[in-house]
Formats: sequence, C-alpha cells, structure tokens
Amino acid sequence: MYDTIIIGGGAAGMMAAITAGRREKSVLLVETQETLGKKLSVTGNGRCNITHDPISLSAYHTDMPKRLESVLSSFDLESTRKFFESIGVSVYNREGYVYPRSNEARSVVRCMELSLQEANVQVMTGITPADILKTDTGFSVKLGLETYESASLVIACGGMAGSEVGGSDSGLLLAQGFNHRIAEPFPSLTDLHCTGLSFNKLKGIRVHGRVCIIMDGEIISEDVGEIQLTENGISGIPVFNVSYEAISGLNIKKPITAVIDLFPEMDIKMLRAYVEYRCNIGRRSIEEALLGLLPEKLIPEILKLFGLNGKKAGRLSEIDLDNLCHILKGLALDVCGYGDHSRAQVMAGGVLLHDLSDSLESDTVPGLYFVGEVVNVDGICGGYNLQWAWSSGAVVGNSI
Ligand SMILES: Cc1cc2nc3c(=O)[nH]c(=O)nc-3n(C[C@H](O)[C@H](O)[C@H](O)COP(=O)(O)OP(=O)(O)OC[C@H]3O[C@@H](n4cnc5c(N)ncnc54)[C@H](O)[C@@H]3O)c2cc1C
Repeated sequence: MYDTIIIGGGAAGMMAAITAGRREKSVLLVETQETLGKKLSVTGNGRCNITHDPISLSAYHTDMPKRLESVLSSFDLESTRKFFESIGVSVYNREGYVYPRSNEARSVVRCMELSLQEANVQVMTGITPADILKTDTGFSVKLGLETYESASLVIACGGMAGSEVGGSDSGLLLAQGFNHRIAEPFPSLTDLHCTGLSFNKLKGIRVHGRVCIIMDGEIISEDVGEIQLTENGISGIPVFNVSYEAISGLNIKKPITAVIDLFPEMDIKMLRAYVEYRCNIGRRSIEEALLGLLPEKLIPEILKLFGLNGKKAGRLSEIDLDNLCHILKGLALDVCGYGDHSRAQVMAGGVLLHDLSDSLESDTVPGLYFVGEVVNVDGICGGYNLQWAWSSGAVVGNSI
C-alpha cells in the first residue's frame, strides 16, 4: 500500500512526487511513455522557460481565480527558485523570462529524475494503468498483471496540447470517470488561421507589430511582438498570447477579426508624414518607396488592397496616402480557424478548479487530487504554465 500513486510523469507529476517523497511518503509514479518529462524536455524551444518573474494572476485563465491565487502563493516564485536550486538547477532571469543557466530543458528533466531517486520515489515508465478504482481504503491501480493500492491518487496526465510529445485526453477521461466536471477543452497558445491576404505567398515572413483581437466592435485582447506569417494566417508569441480570446469567440460563433498595426511605435500622423517623405525620395515606384520599411513580399499584397500597385510614389493622391497609412496601422484579417492540439502549447479548459479544494483535492472523491494542465488553468507564454505545474504539484505533494 503506497501513500500515493501519481499518474503522469511530466512537470507537475514529478514535482508532486519529489515533494511527497521528501516528506518520507511512499510514492509510485507511473508514466505511460518510455521516459519521464518528454514534453518538459522540449519546452522553451529546448531551453525550458521555467517561470516568469513576476508572476501576474492576469496572465492566467481559470474558472476560480481566488483558488489559483491561493495555490500560486502557497508555492510562489521564491519557493520555485529554492526548489530548483535544491535539485541542482540554477536559474537566470532574462527580461522576466526565467531559464536554467544550462539553457537546456533536458538538464531540468535529468535533475528531476535524480531527485526522484534521492526522494525514494518508485518510478514505472512505459506502462499505462488499465483500471483505476476507488476502494474502501483508497485507490487501486492495475498496471500490467499487478494491482497496486494507495491511500491517495494524483492525476497528473497533462492536457491535449503538444500531442507529439505526449499530450492526450487521458487525464480528462479519468476525471470524467470520477464524475468530475470539465470545462470544454480547446487548444490555446496556437496560431490563428485568417483570410484577407494570400498567405501561401507570405509564409515565413516576420514583422514587428501589435495584434488586436476584435469581437462585437471591441478589442478583447492585444499584444505586441514578432508576428510570423504562415501558410494559413498568423503565428508567433503575440498571436499565441491573444489566441485564447480569439478561439473562445470563434467557439461561440462570433465573427473575430485580428487587426495588425505594423507601426505600433508611431501614431497615424507621424506615420503619414514619414510615408509621404519616403514617397518623395527620387522617382521611385510605390513598391520601391516601401522597400526597407516592409518585407518585400508583403508590399504588393498591401498595395493591392487599394489598387496602388505600380503607381509612382510621388504621384499618390492624399486619399491614396491616407488609405495606405490606415492599412499599415490596421491591417484587418478575418479569423476563420486555429492550430489544433498538435500545434498548441497548452490546453485551455479541463477539470473545474471550483470542484477542488485549496490543496487541489476533489470535493467529491476524498484522496483524489489533480495537478498541472489537466486542471482548468492556462496561462500566456513566458513560463506561466510551468509555474502552474510546479505550484500545483508542490501543493499536492505537501498535502498527501
Ligand atoms: C512545444 C511546447 C513548448 C512549451 N514551452 C513552455 C515553456 O517554455 N514554459 C512554460 O511555462 N510552458 C511551456 N509549455 C507548456 C508546458 O509544457 C505544460 O503546461 C506543462 O508541461 C504541463 O505539465 P503537466 O505535468 O501537467 O503535463 P505534461 O508535462 O504533459 O505531463 C503529463 C504526463 O502524463 C503522462 N500521461 C498521460 N496520460 C497518462 C496515463 N494514462 N498514464 C500514465 N501517464 C500518462 C504523459 O505522457 C506526460 O508525460 C510548452 C508546451 C509545448 C507543447
């Protein structure tokens, strides 16, 4: 009989196991893949953006902000830094984004594996539980031919995002098996599919800009940074950061527009004066006048919106110049879809936080806990999702 069995050896499951093991609890950690922390090892482009400094509650989406705040403050940034130092991972802060000094996500996984051993956690990989049942004394978990018993059970199976690195709905199915309510899951931190430009010709272009998501005539989300054009639409960190609101809108069948400001640092008056100045350099065509200001392939696409292609820059009318500048400050693209779970970095939705206690124990099934992405908590880019995995894992590891 174990004190706890943890299903899922990703970021949150390993954190819960190390924390409980260090408290001398007997822990069995079960991972369906051959190795622990497969998704963790590809985070942050292989560098692992461990957390964000400072952590802001407004960076998260959940059904229960107060409970989220309680969990994040029970195991906060300082606790996270101390924990990683204690397992051998030293961190540094780059403009709020916190990374391991090794710059290798793989080293974070290795140090966690070493700490699991040091905390006497029993680990089984490459095996998927067949039956998981509630018993009179706790839980029973069938693994291969053996049945293992425990006083408590932790579901740490993650979400559907990153399906190539182990994302699946198995945690949601287990939660539903225990009659837990689920907020409808959808991919988040993902690209947006748009109409309005010939994206197949523009794939690979990167521009600095602000992206605003418009629903019912209002801005519901916005961010600034490097926007990438894909064969279907737009991608990149600012697009990921507005994707939750855009996809939520599409899910309730609202028309959604992504408006891109290609010159967020200038107001329309400044831009108008600057474009006019450029149009009067030499005797250039409008395409040549915009070279060096916009990516070359984007220029004809923008100009064709007002039939300006091929015109002499110095002969543009006042109205042509106004139209051009309004497009540069507000290129409107209709959002018609989004990248699926295989392209997403996080799953939105999941087990309602409302139905769990402050220590993330089920309100209805005593001894059953949920940690990490399977819970209805997701954040924007920058380390927020891993911070949730660390905080939720540590809070549960300290409670069982
Ligand atoms: C490409 C990519 C990059 C990312 N980069 C960052 C980043 O830099 N910073 C950040 O904060 N967040 C990042 N994220 C998000 C972050 O990785 C996740 O939010 C985090 O890993 C969630 O932790 P978790 O333990 O809940 O789930 P996971 O890390 O997904 O772990 C769940 C584990 O459970 C296992 N499992 C599932 N079902 C079962 C079962 N039935 N039995 C046994 N085991 C099971 C899975 O195989 C998996 O190993 C990134 C995500 C992706 C996809």
